[in-house]
Amino acid sequence: MGNSYGVQVFCEGTQGTFEEQGTVEGQVCEKCGGRLVRGYYKSDPESWAHLAGRAGFMTLCADCGHVKDFQCTIMN
Ligand SMILES: [Zn+2]
Repeated sequence: MGNSYGVQVFCEGTQGTFEEQGTVEGQVCEKCGGRLVRGYYKSDPESWAHLAGRAGFMTLCADCGHVKDFQCTIMN
């Protein structure tokens, strides 16, 4: 399959989608030992309408969804 999937992620009070861009080498999830992936997170359109939109580069676990790191680059 491709490396893009619409994982539902909950981050900083917003629900959004995560688009995977690659696996993080040499690290595993601290919660479940799963695979960490790097990608781009964007909160849903409703959050932007409520001035709570967030988007940026994120590292999360592909297995349990634990957000390890989030660098918010766009917000309103
Ligand atoms: Zn995990």
